[in-house]
Amino acid sequence: MSNFPPAELDAIARQIQTPYYAYSVQAIRARIASLQNAFRGLDVRICYAVKANSNLAILQLMALHGVGADIVSLGEMQRSLKAGIPAERIVFSGVGKIAEEIDAALAAGVWRFNVESADELQLLQRVACSRGVCARAAVRINPDVDARTHAKISTGKAENKFGVSIDEARRWFADAASLDHVQLDGLHAHIGSQILDLEPFRLALQRVEAFRRELVEAGHAIASVDIGGGLGVVYRPGIDTPIEIADYAALVRDTFAEFKGTLALEPGRWLVAEAGVLVTRAIRVKHGTDRQFLVVDAAMNDLLRPSLYDAWHQIVPLHGRDEPDVAYDVVGPVCETGDTFAQGRAMPRCEAGDLLMIGGAGAYGASMGSTYNSRPLPAEVLLDDGRYAVIRRRQTIAEMMAGEQFPQAWHET
Ligand SMILES: *Cc1c(COP(=O)(O)O)cnc(C)c1O
Repeated sequence: MSNFPPAELDAIARQIQTPYYAYSVQAIRARIASLQNAFRGLDVRICYAVKANSNLAILQLMALHGVGADIVSLGEMQRSLKAGIPAERIVFSGVGKIAEEIDAALAAGVWRFNVESADELQLLQRVACSRGVCARAAVRINPDVDARTHAKISTGKAENKFGVSIDEARRWFADAASLDHVQLDGLHAHIGSQILDLEPFRLALQRVEAFRRELVEAGHAIASVDIGGGLGVVYRPGIDTPIEIADYAALVRDTFAEFKGTLALEPGRWLVAEAGVLVTRAIRVKHGTDRQFLVVDAAMNDLLRPSLYDAWHQIVPLHGRDEPDVAYDVVGPVCETGDTFAQGRAMPRCEAGDLLMIGGAGAYGASMGSTYNSRPLPAEVLLDDGRYAVIRRRQTIAEMMAGEQFPQAWHET
């Protein structure tokens, strides 16, 4: 976590209080550059999965480096456009697209829709027809491979809600001529997240490529293949061994050596997870009957992953004491037993007022935040070369309540 000098984090904490998220511009730039370098020479579009971290400043950083967006809602589309990502670099994914969203995305001119069901394909046809345009579409294939990741972030098995089987996709292409407002000429697969093993990718991509060849032989033009995201990152130093980006790129190059169209990538976590930390202050140490609780001022509403996925995050006191480690349950103030960042974690002894950073918090951290327990959303800052900029100020309690009201008028139903 060399991108996060303790003295800087400490100074920021004194100015904007805690908890806050800090993201390193250098770390994000480095990830973008290594992905771009690994795929140099190929016709590749990197479409950042906005849900990983949807702060406008993060999206602007993507835009400045030519990275597009993978969106799953109109909110994510508006954010991407506002941050300067051109519509022609936006792909629209998700199983629950509704007519209004499709219409707005067509109006904006997004690059393509990743379509996940026959019903959605028909809806796309109807909405595009009423707008008098032709929608570009890719079928999201469910390649039925085990991504060997946490069940809640596995998306490419037949039992998952995502995508359609190759058999079903084959029928879509056979009937594609009947859809005069949809240009169905793409394939898409995204098998899960936090994948640390190349084999599931190899299997999924081979299935996609075999299907692509079959389609081409049957006379269908395939202009783009979107291979999704899912690249895993290091949460547990020394334990998690991520896929080397060069190996991933080599696999893609080999697998799609005969493909002449555009490849799309949708990395989320890999671009931003390790580029972010959540900075929190110890409120007190509570001595339980047989456990020591380190109560901190961040909670599950700020960073949900430990509660939701049993995720392990590194927790580092900014000012370690030169004493033997102590085992703490690191917990937040929220009224849930699940509000636990770590259990029995050995770390330097802490006292009330100490600052700690929780690592690997740049992805699926702030973007999953809520105001549960009526805790305002935390602040977010960008760090760049010894300077920092607030990219989301801490929500006020008044802002948190804005939009709520006492009943002023009762309407007939
Ligand atoms: C979530 C998601 C991604 C990004 O996944 P990461 O594991 O963060 O890279 C990409 N594509 C789709 C369709 C997704 O749902």
